[in-house]
Amino acid sequence: MGYRVTLIPGDGIGPEVTAAARRVAEATGVSIEWEVVEAGEVAIRAHGTPLPEPVLDSIRRNRVALKGPITTPIGGGFRSVNVALRQQLDLYASVRPARAIAGEGTRFPETNLVVVREATEGLYSGVEHWVDRDHTAAETVNVVTRKASDRIVRFAFELARREHRHRVTAVHKANIMKTTGALFQAAFRAMAPAYPDLASDERLIDNMCMQLVKKPSEYDVIVTTNLFGDILSDLCAGLAGGLGVAPGALYGDGIAAFEPVHGSAPKYAGQDRADPVAEILCVELLLRHLGEKEAADRVFRAVWETIAEKKVVTYDLALPGYTQRPVPASSCSAMAQEIARKVPEVDLDAPLPRPPAAVAAPGDPQLEA
Ligand code: NAD
Repeated sequence: MGYRVTLIPGDGIGPEVTAAARRVAEATGVSIEWEVVEAGEVAIRAHGTPLPEPVLDSIRRNRVALKGPITTPIGGGFRSVNVALRQQLDLYASVRPARAIAGEGTRFPETNLVVVREATEGLYSGVEHWVDRDHTAAETVNVVTRKASDRIVRFAFELARREHRHRVTAVHKANIMKTTGALFQAAFRAMAPAYPDLASDERLIDNMCMQLVKKPSEYDVIVTTNLFGDILSDLCAGLAGGLGVAPGALYGDGIAAFEPVHGSAPKYAGQDRADPVAEILCVELLLRHLGEKEAADRVFRAVWETIAEKKVVTYDLALPGYTQRPVPASSCSAMAQEIARKVPEVDLDAPLPRPPAAVAAPGDPQLEA
């Protein structure tokens, strides 16, 4: 029997990259029936709201979704659909792996870390208001609860164990934010002894940014609150080759949605130019979640080989800086077609072309918080 998965194409480049991802999913032979629903700007035009109830119903029913990026108006307009989805479905863990693929597009080919971000509260709780009528002062409330901190910290340790990782680093600003920061820190310190097989340590957010751009291979699993996690996951996407290749996942209890780190990139919408890799790697994560390990391995391998070959890649992967020698840029659909073609053919037992650099042993006592 096949799987039924909710598909939200989204805004901007979303329809193009999700079509590319579907094509690659089909090439795996895993039977997936996509239930397509609309959210975002396109839903406002059709239904008068960016997040119609049938979208939530579909995800609740199917328990798994693949999502394209959704536009959020800046500084006004409707509230973020992404934030609302996470809160309404209690998708509390945002997981963003940063793996350098084929050593390309990065000074740090050994990057292989995961950012685990609390996704339902913090500074994105939506509790904010103008203090005065003239809008000269404003407040946004940073909501941090022990319950949500405990469950995200536990999630991060469990993920580290499951993925045979070595170390979990909590990132906060408890020196300045003496209630919310300290609460998150306390949850981490209370949980760590239950995982004696894993190293654990802490960094302040500002220091963490500096450490990551200097030596990302020191880090393994990072767990943090909502805003810090949002920023760190883009930073880590940059370390691992850019937004075009960075996938993400959102997990709740018995429910999951997969979405790229990147946004709707409106300037490339409708041009068949956007890099489909991030959304295709979301399919890889989705297949792993469904227990389809071989299919997931094939997708990852096909992406890796396509990027390593540099024959059919989108503009961002063809630019000098990403590649040693400039190559002609292919379209989004052509790159997806190339990856899909490779999926059934790849030899999972053969060594990877340009294998990943060994990840340094975790834990460096010299790094100061
Ligand atoms: P963005 O990720 O859309 O774009 C940032 C830069 O990366 C741009 O130069 C863009 O062209 C480029 N880029 C992004 N994805 C690419 C791809 N697949 N291939 C090639 N280039 C790519 O971020 P932004 O411009 O800050 O945001 C645009 C909109 O997306 C906003 O409305 C924002 O709220 C929304 N957004 C949504 C999500 C989501 O749905 N999860 C995440 C981030 C931003």
